[in-house]
Amino acid sequence: MAKYIFVTGGVTSSLGKGIIAASLAKLLQARGLRVTIQKLDPYINVDPGTLNPYEHGECFVTEDGAETDLDLGHYERFLNIFTSQANNVTTGRIYQTVINKEREGAYLGKTVQVIPHITDEIKRRMLLLGQGNKWDIVITELGGTVGDIESLPFIEAVRQLQWEMPDDCMVVHLTLIPYLKAAKELKTKPTQHSVKLLSSEGVHPDVIVCRTEEPLSPDIRKKIALFCNVKQDAVIEAADASTIYEVPLMMMREKLDLICLKKLGLTHYHEPELGKWKEFLDKLKYPKNKVTIGLIGKYIELQDAYKSILESFVHAGAVNECKVQVVNVHSEFITDENVCEKLGNLDGLLVAPGFGHRGVEGKIIAVKYARENRLPFFGICLGMQMAVIEFARNVLGLKDAHSTEMNPNTPTPVIDLMEEQKKVTAKGGTMRLGAYPCILKEGTLAREIYGKEEISERHRHRWEFNNAYLSQFEQAGMTLSGFNPESGLVEIIELPAHPFFIGVQYHPELKSTVECPQPVFVHFIKAAREFTEAKIAVKNPLLQSEMI
Ligand code: GLN
Repeated sequence: MAKYIFVTGGVTSSLGKGIIAASLAKLLQARGLRVTIQKLDPYINVDPGTLNPYEHGECFVTEDGAETDLDLGHYERFLNIFTSQANNVTTGRIYQTVINKEREGAYLGKTVQVIPHITDEIKRRMLLLGQGNKWDIVITELGGTVGDIESLPFIEAVRQLQWEMPDDCMVVHLTLIPYLKAAKELKTKPTQHSVKLLSSEGVHPDVIVCRTEEPLSPDIRKKIALFCNVKQDAVIEAADASTIYEVPLMMMREKLDLICLKKLGLTHYHEPELGKWKEFLDKLKYPKNKVTIGLIGKYIELQDAYKSILESFVHAGAVNECKVQVVNVHSEFITDENVCEKLGNLDGLLVAPGFGHRGVEGKIIAVKYARENRLPFFGICLGMQMAVIEFARNVLGLKDAHSTEMNPNTPTPVIDLMEEQKKVTAKGGTMRLGAYPCILKEGTLAREIYGKEEISERHRHRWEFNNAYLSQFEQAGMTLSGFNPESGLVEIIELPAHPFFIGVQYHPELKSTVECPQPVFVHFIKAAREFTEAKIAVKNPLLQSEMI
């Protein structure tokens, strides 16, 4: 029988509930328990797939093709497990299920109501992953903040489950303890109010995790325990961390895992095995080199829009014992005139995924710069498509070359809508999504990077390389090195004459974890490191002759 931990949030959003939930899961996993995490989001979209990155950051795609909340990315990166459609549920999906059942006549003439029908469906989803003896612990992170109107049915479902299975459920509440500079004091009142609000909805937290910029004194802990009615050792300090990957160790020092194990009556566990994690953290904190990578995108002001790419750089940097400094470059403002100035100091260029025409010409100029200046280049999805267009225009001389996404009437559609997409009109969940196999050609960079013939990576796109142009590209020096074995869809392009130039139609960033850094990112950072080393050698002829 699985045990359930619910993680709620109070006072304000953006406290890092996902990181706390993932860190707790990591510690429990390191103690030998089988742990998974899910996110329940109170908004009405059926999934975040149709949400603009400005609204909701990156959309994380799972193996089974679900478009999910970016917190699932943290879960996978921390736990090194795959999540699935079942790990992310929204109010929209809950209602969709209930309404479909009502239309089928499943409620036999009853009035369908929030309680019990919606809450029953929420409870079913909360318990779903715990069935089938696959997991010992299921952690459920509830999106939103306690007190939101839309979270009420979710909190009510937690209340009912706690009542039905008191020994198998617990609640961890994450709150903020603000530091008031003028008073030179940490303030507990917002936390007291938030716990009171949660209690008024019938749920009492077992553990309170306090986000704070200053250490919690024993007095403060005592005060929170007394007024929020929890044990003093269940008041956990979560101070600001230099990296999110430090948080599991901070939570271990606070004994968050042991408190949860005790509360749930779990006795079969061992000392945490975090050797690999600590090794990674050491490399991350004490790098020997540094590279500067330009991330060319159109959401540069939004850290969350490219979350998985940024985290993949962290993992790949640690493998290379190299600090990866990412410089965001807004593609809309790159021109032929300013490209040298904007990209001249970089050691590598990543052209980001994306949709629509905004900023694509700047991306194409950036690709040209990387190709001509032998700067390591990595294009992801739209980034790969831009590399194809650049090559068509500037190497093949096909000046009108474009993607039909941006110019439906281009006479040279080197990137075209996939055949199966031509009849699609609905937006949600209709792209080519999730994991597909890819066969790598022998003797290519891709094959060297992966070290095997068949790989599987995740996708999220509607357009593809137009195979009508395949031989023209190959003859001019672009290698198409990865194909989908069933459809023949081009998955990878590369330029063998360039030190490192690769574009992938899939999203490798979705599979990079602390324990398994994604190989294309690892090799890209290695190439960037070699690029800077060569630059240093040219600047310093003495060093150059020593190296020879
Ligand atoms: N807009 C492009 C397509 O749909 C690329 C998508 C992406 O970068 N994820 O094919």
